[in-house]
Amino acid sequence: MTSSAYLRPRDLDEAIVARAAYPEWMVLAGGTDLMVDANRRATPSGILDLWRFSPLCHIRAHDDGLTIGAGTTFLEISRDAHVRERFRPLAEAAREVGALQIQARATIGGNVGTSSPVGDSLPVLLALDAELELWSVRGRRRVPYRSFCTGYRKTLLAPDELVVAVHVPAPAPQARTRWAWRKIGTRRAQSISKVMGAAMMELDSDRRVAWARVALGAVADRPIRVTAVEDAVRGLSIAQAADAARAALRGAIAPIDDIRSTAAYRLAVAENLVARFFSGIPS
Ligand SMILES: Cc1cc2nc3c(=O)[nH]c(=O)nc-3n(C[C@H](O)[C@H](O)[C@H](O)COP(=O)(O)OP(=O)(O)OC[C@H]3O[C@@H](n4cnc5c(N)ncnc54)[C@H](O)[C@@H]3O)c2cc1C
Repeated sequence: MTSSAYLRPRDLDEAIVARAAYPEWMVLAGGTDLMVDANRRATPSGILDLWRFSPLCHIRAHDDGLTIGAGTTFLEISRDAHVRERFRPLAEAAREVGALQIQARATIGGNVGTSSPVGDSLPVLLALDAELELWSVRGRRRVPYRSFCTGYRKTLLAPDELVVAVHVPAPAPQARTRWAWRKIGTRRAQSISKVMGAAMMELDSDRRVAWARVALGAVADRPIRVTAVEDAVRGLSIAQAADAARAALRGAIAPIDDIRSTAAYRLAVAENLVARFFSGIPS
């Protein structure tokens, strides 16, 4: 692949000015998605190189939660002590993106940018109710991740915008908040997901589900929140919630047959997975 123009911006202002001037240029982060079919794609007219671009490479904990720069790699996320302790499903999902070599290049901004239905961090962002920070010369905006994906690999990102950061709100006091993450592939490591998902829930003092956010990937054209399950489990004891979740999932999703799996398998696994989100909660 050859390209006629290349820019390594000095700062974010230069990056968004270039993005506005050349919206057709390739925005390159880790390149783990973009390089896969580089030889089959038309040569881009230019490359905006954001790999290891320092304004995008950070993990910051603050009172309201966590901010992760879009250029942060999954290896950095999986190894960050604060993420591991307080945002565990994010660290677990990061550790299951490809192999170590991929994790060392693949960025969270790239996962969001590709917006594949099998992007492993994406259901986690839904379950954690994350927001994206998008910058352009027109201004900055924060978009709830739940409204960002609009179709198969389609998003609200405008041609002149960059994903700058992911904001994750702080969880309620740990005693009452529970998390879950699970990825099912053809093998335990280095596989593309057949189904994966994440959940976050809060239990009340009677160990009933006060609320839950349940998200799945690889069962629709985009990562989805399964609100039918969330509604069905509200107010139930943990013991009741697993069966209710399983029942509510039927009819709520319509996975497809494809090269990686069948619709029937995906549905059966997704039912088990959402049930496990609740039955797996330690007492
Ligand atoms: C062998 C292999 C295994 C893989 N396994 C997995 C897996 O298990 N799970 C998984 O989820 N993914 C997997 N992937 C896919 C890929 O690694 C991830 O999607 C990764 O997060 C992409 O990040 P990147 O930095 O490499 O993105 P890039 O390839 O650089 O870019 C991806 C897209 O995002 C856009 N983009 C990147 N950064 C920004 C930004 N800041 N603003 C706007 N747009 C931006 C790019 O323009 C491009 O469209 C795998 C890939 C390979 C090659």
